Amino acid sequence: MQNTAVRSSLWMEEALDEDDDLAAESLTGTTTADVCIVGGGYTGLWTALAIKDRDPSADVVLVEASICGAGASGVNGGFAMTWWPKWSTLAKLVGSDAAAVAQASEDAVAEIGDFVAAHGVAADFTAAGWLWAATNSAQLGSWEETVDGWAAAGRSPYRAVDAAAAAAMTGSRTHLGGVFEAGVATLHPGRLVRALRRIAVERGVRLHENTPMTALDRQGTETVVTTQRGSVRAAQVVLATNAALVAHREIRRHLIVLGSDVVATAPCPRLIGDWDPGLAVSDSRRLVHYYRTTKDGRVVFGKGGGRVGFGRRIDPRFWGRSERAEQVSAGLHRTFPQLRDVPVTHAWSGAVDYAIDGMPFFGALQAMPNVHYVAGFSGDGVGPSRLAGHVLASRVLGIDDQWSAFPLVRTPRGALPPEPARFLGGQVVRRAITRKERLEDVERRPGRALVAVAGLDPTSFVG
Ligand SMILES: Cc1cc2nc3c(=O)[nH]c(=O)nc-3n(C[C@H](O)[C@H](O)[C@H](O)COP(=O)(O)OP(=O)(O)OC[C@H]3O[C@@H](n4cnc5c(N)ncnc54)[C@H](O)[C@@H]3O)c2cc1C
Repeated sequence: MQNTAVRSSLWMEEALDEDDDLAAESLTGTTTADVCIVGGGYTGLWTALAIKDRDPSADVVLVEASICGAGASGVNGGFAMTWWPKWSTLAKLVGSDAAAVAQASEDAVAEIGDFVAAHGVAADFTAAGWLWAATNSAQLGSWEETVDGWAAAGRSPYRAVDAAAAAAMTGSRTHLGGVFEAGVATLHPGRLVRALRRIAVERGVRLHENTPMTALDRQGTETVVTTQRGSVRAAQVVLATNAALVAHREIRRHLIVLGSDVVATAPCPRLIGDWDPGLAVSDSRRLVHYYRTTKDGRVVFGKGGGRVGFGRRIDPRFWGRSERAEQVSAGLHRTFPQLRDVPVTHAWSGAVDYAIDGMPFFGALQAMPNVHYVAGFSGDGVGPSRLAGHVLASRVLGIDDQWSAFPLVRTPRGALPPEPARFLGGQVVRRAITRKERLEDVERRPGRALVAVAGLDPTSFVG
């Protein structure tokens, strides 16, 4: 399904050009396994590796609908973020565990760095930190609640950056100030996901690509994952299908799928000379702009809040060439006027799984307690998927440790409305936010009604 679209992403184009083993054989016939993992993105692959670390003799089969990296893991911005920016949500959800949970997410980023170094993976992992910036005056101070919240908890992951320093770090005076967090890294998403695939196979994971799961059934104490031309009978199953988890009603209630769109310029190293190599930057709008450079001197610039998902199916138009390339390029050129004459060589999009409360949740299906999942990375899954691998591995192996009892193993409170209300509501709010943010970019104040509609978000539905 995503096979044809997958090369629109700069990352997958480059990673697949370097790969002489494009797709493992698809599954035909029946097989058995201790664990069947569905989905070959970071979550599925880190989980497979974490299982093998804990129990090298575990028989693990991984089935992927397309090829590993065809989903969000091959198309993202490559920001390995932490959960330090999530102070207010974490404080509400896990209370006094907030700092420990955020610290675990920072450790996960460092672990990815250690992993790529240990395995000689050329994934351009660069721990240069993250600038949380304002690119218009309405955004100034967006970080204050977070900074103050952590300060009250005795933590200080951020340092203030004034306008001159922000301009110096990014090479653009559009940045009016911000805060800097050191624990974030950037990486090459495609090379990472393809390296994880290779290492998982070397570790004995039985991989089948072009093998979509078409049904999931309980048979006695086991579960049968039916695929197009075969099936896997397993004691434990992990659903690592990310946005496609909306297929399951009990997960869909807490999950909304939104597109995110990315453009990449041609290499222009002279024009980005002042930008700290590897620095990740986001501005503070709701339809966030996120951007970084690449090792060969390109700028990769993304924008959140694109296409709105409907119902239980992921529209194939979420994937492949971006339909918002012009709008995203306009954001790039507003932020970096010096890049106006540099060609945009790639423009792609993908689906993001937003949780109702903005944080991932781990669980097992009600009717099939041996079918585990994580959902709702909410646009920050590159770093946290490593941590998710620990949680899911401990849970499927029945290991009683800090991971199986991780505070985000939970059922989110509240539920999104059914369709078509949620789709229509999503469209209305997204349009209002777009209009509000356009006005703010030209330093105009949006009217009160517009601010009110733009201020609605999924958490408004939490009862
Ligand atoms: C455009 C974009 C930019 C992003 N930027 C960032 C960023 O900079 N930083 C960040 O932290 N996060 C970012 N994210 C989010 C991040 O990419 C994801 O959270 C992360 O990659 C999740 O990995 P995953 O393995 O859970 O999902 P995926 O990589 O989507 O993997 C799921 C896999 O399941 C497969 N699958 C689906 N259905 C089936 C089925 N029925 N049978 C078998 N296989 C199936 C899919 O083909 C896919 O390969 C971004 C996402 C997008 C779309």
